[in-house]
Amino acid sequence: MRVKLRAGPEQRKFIERIEELSGEDIFACYQCGRCSAGCPVALEMDILPNQVIRLIQLGLAEEVLGSKTLFLCASCFTCQSRCPKGIDMARVMEAVRHLLEPKGKDVCGPDEITPELAKELPQQVLVSLFRKFSK
Ligand code: SF4
Ligand code: SF4
Repeated sequence: MRVKLRAGPEQRKFIERIEELSGEDIFACYQCGRCSAGCPVALEMDILPNQVIRLIQLGLAEEVLGSKTLFLCASCFTCQSRCPKGIDMARVMEAVRHLLEPKGKDVCGPDEITPELAKELPQQVLVSLFRKFSK
């Protein structure tokens, strides 16, 4: 991937907003890659979890906001348990999703969850669906 680096107020604002929304110290990451090595859905991602953090550190908002990785993260917390700096990647992913514009319409609203489906799906999947695919 070819990227053009800039260090202006826009980039700083993006980084600060992600830190504010996630509560995580983005610059604590030193790119050891343990998060990506343990992520169960890494093979399907276009940008690996450690790369998401690196792009945020560089203030490259467009590259992060356009990634399908944001919607593949299953909020399983494996990365956080492996991270030597304790970075909660699921919160970082959620913070980035929060910045997506336009917000769009609900892709998965409560009306679409039938009682049968609600019985079958693990609660974490339901919560994750509402968090990721609703306005
Ligand atoms: S929380 Fe997301 S990024 Fe972290 S290991 Fe799980 S799926 Fe991967
Ligand atoms: S495990 Fe933590 S320190 Fe290592 S690359 Fe991932 S987020 Fe960064």
